[in-house]
Amino acid sequence: MSHATGFLQYRRLQEIYGSNIPNKNMKLNTQQVSNSIGWQFDNSYARLPEYFYAPLRPVPVPAPHVAMLNYALAESLGLDIRALSTNEIALLFAGNALPDGTQPIAQAYAGHQFGHFTMLGDGRAILLGEHLTPAGERFDIQLKGSGQTPFSRRGDGRAALAPMLREYLISEAMHALNIPTTRSLAVVTTGEQVVRETPLPGAILTRIASSHIRVGTFEYAAGQVNVAAIRTLADYVIQRHYPALTDADNPYLSLLNRVIERQAALIAKWLLVGFIHGVMNTDNMSISGETIDYGPCAFMDAYDPNTVFSSIDHQGRYRYSHQPLTAQWNLARFAETLLPLIDPVQEKALALAEEAIHSFPKIYQTQWIMGMRKKLGLFTEETEDTKLIETLLTWMQMHRADYTHTFRALASKTLPEEARFHDTEFVGWHTRWQARLSRQAESRSSSFSLMQANNPAIIPRNHRVEEALSAASEHGDYSLIQQLLAAVANPYADNPEYTDYRTPPAPSEHVYQTFCGT
Ligand code: AMP
Ligand code: MG
Repeated sequence: MSHATGFLQYRRLQEIYGSNIPNKNMKLNTQQVSNSIGWQFDNSYARLPEYFYAPLRPVPVPAPHVAMLNYALAESLGLDIRALSTNEIALLFAGNALPDGTQPIAQAYAGHQFGHFTMLGDGRAILLGEHLTPAGERFDIQLKGSGQTPFSRRGDGRAALAPMLREYLISEAMHALNIPTTRSLAVVTTGEQVVRETPLPGAILTRIASSHIRVGTFEYAAGQVNVAAIRTLADYVIQRHYPALTDADNPYLSLLNRVIERQAALIAKWLLVGFIHGVMNTDNMSISGETIDYGPCAFMDAYDPNTVFSSIDHQGRYRYSHQPLTAQWNLARFAETLLPLIDPVQEKALALAEEAIHSFPKIYQTQWIMGMRKKLGLFTEETEDTKLIETLLTWMQMHRADYTHTFRALASKTLPEEARFHDTEFVGWHTRWQARLSRQAESRSSSFSLMQANNPAIIPRNHRVEEALSAASEHGDYSLIQQLLAAVANPYADNPEYTDYRTPPAPSEHVYQTFCGT
């Protein structure tokens, strides 16, 4: 986008807010909630040039009520939420009342959506600011569903309850699975309805992220008339997320390589647990390497590399097995934005960037195979391991075996009494795997421990998720989502209380499609 378009967006802000455009330096007139719970704001993003964001407050909501509250996360952020009344908590996480030190902004970004370049930006989110934890870690505090912004295009700036609960649940499950992710601090209902296909209860999610800088933020910066924009952003990101690169020979090429490494590691982790993001647009890819923007995401039940859940992914562009390729494609878009910084000689910059992008498959594959070895209890490396893994996956696909259940079954001392585990093909594979385990010095019991720690017993299975979301959203019954949340919080434990959550869906329970609900 050109600087001129940025200006036009600012004009639209004037149309929405009249002459009361919040200025980033103004003293906010907010309803007061106690500030003494430990907030420590230092808003570095709001100190970037103004074309990176639009300063504005969340639009207040009529009747905020707390639906979900993550006390453990609040505590780890150094926030004493318990010191607030329920009403104060609701006002706070609705954006009706802002703590001192916040500098609310909507961030500008662009992105390739299903392969097509679009101007985007926070159309329904407001970054309140960056909070520093007592340990000195910096986190974005963002409200999602907080009302219209200059980037809303035709959207209402709001969010429905079920998708916000889905993001809360799945992001917390991902965290428990040791997968880098944004996290969820709270969901409040707004007391307003949002109109989608039908009227739905509205809600706001409070999202915690190491930052909300996306590949799309770089695409936005690269499109600015101001050529300094991309350097400003790259320098900011290096300082915030990759400070060790400041002294590198070529910090920008190193930045590209580090982001490639983090994304390769992230996507490998997704595949290892059967996660399908669903909307891997470049605006939904975080530069910090966290999973971000949970829309029509889901975990695969029966193993099938072609699994697609998202109702809007008609071509299967973001199907399970395509995620590494998509990540590489997105990273190529990121690399393009950095070309002028990588080298003043265009051909040289291009050659260096291409080399970096071409390194992705190998880095990814290494991460994936490393994870797969752990899933199979292997401590050593043999060249035949790939074959061993692939044979198992092919068998699982042929038999529509449940991905999570099969790996967890291998991680138990005796295989469950199931007909498919007696099939000659499986027995043949199992014998080869046992022989492979015998060729390493580590004991069987160390192998089992390794496997137990790398094969989750409990994932947020889609039929359970849908059931919990509709109970909460349609009937105000939060008992199912609370139980599910408790179950996925300890995915590697063999807790008899949660046996039900381990069971794959019966044919009648299968959920084949998920909706973004935007
Ligand atoms: P997503 O698919 O959630 O990653 O969103 C893609 C883009 O659409 C982002 O710029 C969002 O801010 C914007 N968007 C999604 N839903 C809404 C909405 N209800 N109102 C305004 N903007 C929205
Ligand atoms: Mg998004």
